[in-house]
Formats: sequence, C-alpha cells, structure tokens
Amino acid sequence: MPKTTYNRVDAQIIDDLRSIAGSKQVLVSAEDMEPYAHDEVVGLRSEPEAVVRASSTEQVSEILKLAQRERVPVTPRGAGYGLSGGAVPIHGGVVLSLEKMDRILEIDKENLMVTVEPGVIIGDLHRAVEEEGLFYPPDPASLDSCTLGGNVAEGAGGPRAVKYGVTKDYVCGLEAVLPSGEVINCGGKLVKNVTGYNLIQLLIGSEGTLAIVTKIILRLIPLPKIQVDLLVPYDDFQAAADTVSDIIAHRIVPTTIEFMERDSVLAVERLLEKEMPHDDAAAHLLIQLDGNRQEVVDEDAEVVGQLCLDHGARDVFVSRDSHTSDRLWEARRMIIDALNNESPINHMEDVVVPRAEIPSLLKGIKEIALRHSVRIVCFGHAGDGNVHVNVLKDDITDDLWADLVPAVREEIYTMTLSMGGTITAEHGIGATRRDYLPLALDRTQIDLMRRIRDVFDPNHILNPGKIFP
Ligand SMILES: Cc1cc2nc3c(=O)[nH]c(=O)nc-3n(C[C@H](O)[C@H](O)[C@H](O)COP(=O)(O)OP(=O)(O)OC[C@H]3O[C@@H](n4cnc5c(N)ncnc54)[C@H](O)[C@@H]3O)c2cc1C
Repeated sequence: MPKTTYNRVDAQIIDDLRSIAGSKQVLVSAEDMEPYAHDEVVGLRSEPEAVVRASSTEQVSEILKLAQRERVPVTPRGAGYGLSGGAVPIHGGVVLSLEKMDRILEIDKENLMVTVEPGVIIGDLHRAVEEEGLFYPPDPASLDSCTLGGNVAEGAGGPRAVKYGVTKDYVCGLEAVLPSGEVINCGGKLVKNVTGYNLIQLLIGSEGTLAIVTKIILRLIPLPKIQVDLLVPYDDFQAAADTVSDIIAHRIVPTTIEFMERDSVLAVERLLEKEMPHDDAAAHLLIQLDGNRQEVVDEDAEVVGQLCLDHGARDVFVSRDSHTSDRLWEARRMIIDALNNESPINHMEDVVVPRAEIPSLLKGIKEIALRHSVRIVCFGHAGDGNVHVNVLKDDITDDLWADLVPAVREEIYTMTLSMGGTITAEHGIGATRRDYLPLALDRTQIDLMRRIRDVFDPNHILNPGKIFP
C-alpha cells in the first residue's frame, strides 16, 4: 500500500539538499517560501518547507533519491503560472523548481528540431526559432511567463490550436527523472516512432505526478510568411457564437478563432487604460489566418469576413501590420489579469465541447448565470471548442459565494459532459478539479490511472494531492 503520510523536511535533509544543489539554491526562510506557495489560482496556497532550484538532470535525480529515502513529498515547478494548483505543494515538503534549467540547447535546422531545458520560457523559444525562419506554434496566453516543462506537464494549448494543435503534437523526445531517481530518455529527433508504449504521450499532461521532465525535443515547422488578423464585433452574443461553428462547417481552418465577451473587453480597457474598437459590442471574435501565399490568405479572409457579416457582425476590422495585431493580441492575453483586477475573487473554468456545440454551450452558460444571479464572463479559444468561463464574485457575500461556486461548477460540468465535452481542455485537473474527476471519467479509467501512478511512484512522493479525488 502506498504511504500517504510524509516526514517533515528536517535540518539534515536541508544540509543534504545544499550539498546536492549548492547552498544558494536551497531556500528555507518564510519570506522565500511565499512565491512558491501558490500558482495563478485565486485563493489557493500552501507553504513548502523548502525550495530547491536544480540546475542539472543529475541534481534532480539526487534530490528525488533523497526525497524517496526520507519519504518527503516533492512538487515540481516551472513558472507557477498554472491555473489548477498543480505547482502548489499542498502536502508541504520540497518544491523542486526548474527555473534555473532555462537553456535552449540546440536549434537543429537540418532536422527542424529544437532541444530545450524545461525552464525555458515559451515566448523566448518563439523568438529564438522565428529568427531562423522556424515556427513553434503552441502559444498559451501566458507565453511570456510560463515554461516549456510546465507546458509539457499540463499538455498546454493556445489560440493557434485550431490549425496547428497543442503541445502534445510537437514533443518528439523527453528526458525525465522518475521518482526513484532513475533517468529515462524517450524518443528523439524522430518524426515517426512506434517503439513500445508511447511513454512520451503518457508523461505529457501528467501534471508532474509521474516524472520530472529535464529535457524536451520539439518539432518545428517553417514560419508562415503571411498573417492577417480580423477583429469582428457583434451586437448579439449568440450570433458571434454561431459564427464560430459556421466557419468550421465551411471547411476553413483559421489559425485562431478567439471569442471575447463584452465584459472581458471592458475589463481589459480598464486595466490597460486603452480603448478597443467597438468596445460596446456584445462580443468580439479575434480571427487569425496565415499561410505562405498572399492571394490564398486574402481569399480565406474574404470568405471568413463575409460569413461574419452574414451572421450580423457590425464590421470586420482587418489588421495586416504586426504593430496593430500585437495590440489586439495583447488585449486578448490580458483578459485573465483584467478579470482578476475587476473582481479579485473569481472562479475560472476551462471546459471544452465538440466545436459545433459552442453556440449551445455559451447559451447554456448565460442561462446558468441568470438562474444564479451571478456575473459569468466567457472568453477563449472557441475555435477549438474550449471556452474559459469566469464566475465573478463582485459584491456577492462570502456565505453565498461559498455555496454558489460548487453549484455553478456542477451545472457547467454536467451541461458540458451532456454535449460530449469534458471538464478541462488545457488547464488540467491539479488540485482544483480533482473532486470532479469522477464526473468526467468512469471508475475503471480512474483506477487504471491510479495503478499507472503506483507503478511510477509507489510511495506517492511526486506531487501528491493532484489529479485523483
Ligand atoms: C494569464 C494566463 C493565461 C494562460 N493561458 C493559457 C493558455 O492559453 N493555454 C494553456 O494551456 N494554459 C494557459 N495558462 C495556464 C498555464 O500558463 C499553463 O498551464 C502552463 O503550461 C504552466 O506552465 P508553468 O511553467 O507556469 O507551470 P507551473 O504552474 O509551474 O506547473 C504546472 C504543472 O506542471 C508541473 N511541472 C512544471 N514543470 C515540470 C517539469 N519540468 N516536469 C514535470 N512537471 C512539471 C507542476 O508540478 C504542475 O503540476 C494560462 C495561465 C495564465 C495565468
């Protein structure tokens, strides 16, 4: 039976950590623990007993061997920009930060592959490969903060998933350290590989519960030469939702189709103190198209623009220059911060449905908001069926809020599942959704997953308290 009680991090363990990683890389003061006690989930925090910032695979391996011997829990951490509490050490113990392992080791232009350490910030990777005319498409809105190790562990996506897919579609190789301290190397600079079970895909999205990723090999593609952004305001929220599924039904696959409800746009304006065009519109779509031939991209943009107008769009604002596009995307990427600014207590969901169900999902969420007299703001990657649903506390009393959140969550999940969707598309289960896992997966699947975890980590030292109810 796995042991579920853990030992405290004592002075001897701190000394051992110092001799592995160097004393400057081991933090123990209360002040130093604060940044590592939370991620970006509002209101969730738990202090670690120590933080160690590893700088090599060998150090990660030695730290895990020590933790295993001493039965101390270890929580891997990238940048702490997660939205499911995955990097929060809810059983205390050691936070093992990968922030120092932040080198781009090689951009291989012959094989179109890049090899990175897990602490590389994804925005830095984008800039480095784009200078070489290459492209790494996954683009979480947190791209200037979050790490590739965190992206792999969460299976992160982003707006460009509509056309280019998500992290799992680009990982060709992983080096990882098992909870025993053993190092495994899976895959390589290989586009095809069916040698045994696909451990790479098992580790992607495993939320730091099976192994710690210490090296990542990613596939690159040529950088598209042309890009056009369309900002499309609507007077009718539902008409914007209908357009999303209609574009897909017309067999055009834009790079992105992002949905932004009015309250999210107004919140961004207030945060950035900048005006957005048509800020009184009920909703906006932010659609990007890219390619290598101007006439093909223009033709698709024409068809998409017309479809938007057919659905009652007020206007189609076209941006072909990077300065204007950057401003539009800055606004989109600031929505989560802006809603936090608007209502510091809020609750965020990350549901996903088959794309044709987007209009019904958005309509259903509005009905839930009305029924509970609460402000719910929707935005996100509607083009791939994934909508972020922010429930804002505003001036609701604490008592009411405590009852309201679970009730609203359950209704949103039940509706999503009835449409063939699921409860998280990219933010993960972590600590915040684990009690709802049985709504989405049957017992057989959860048991199978538990048994897989037990094979990797019989003593449950790696990121305990995550994923499983
Ligand atoms: C404003 C904002 C916008 C966001 N937009 C998006 C979006 O568009 N798409 C999206 O998918 N997500 C988005 N996110 C969520 C978040 O950025 C991603 O989940 C990201 O992948 C987290 O990376 P991180 O480095 O911050 O990981 P952390 O938060 O540090 O960790 C996340 C999980 O990964 C584990 N982990 C971290 N590094 C490793 C490693 N090397 N080996 C094993 N496990 C590890 C941790 O234990 C934890 O379980 C957003 C978050 C914010 C705050």
